[in-house]
Amino acid sequence: MNPFQQAGFAGPYKLAQYEQTVRRGEIGLYVFLDLFGEPKYIARSDSDLASRVRGWTQTYDSFWVEYHTAPRTAYMRECELYHRYRAKLDLKTHPAPPPGVDWRCPTKGCELS
Ligand SMILES: [Zn+2]
Repeated sequence: MNPFQQAGFAGPYKLAQYEQTVRRGEIGLYVFLDLFGEPKYIARSDSDLASRVRGWTQTYDSFWVEYHTAPRTAYMRECELYHRYRAKLDLKTHPAPPPGVDWRCPTKGCELS
């Protein structure tokens, strides 16, 4: 089983079909994949992930999505996945918490933990 499927992500969906597959107004994570299904970009939205996915339909092929009910759990999950897949990612910048909060990365040894 694919590790994202095993972890409870929905998908993978084609980016070109995000309007039919992503719920509007949701907090969550998205993982963009290349043509081979490899994770290339991991990010989250704290308000409407559909609006964030919209701009990437020409760049990546497909994506996994995971809905969250609170930004904090989404951030923690994003950090975990970032550290696990960092070597493969196009975006190598460490996830940032929302403005105005001081959440720490849950990964031991991370300079932001
Ligand atoms: Zn970290």
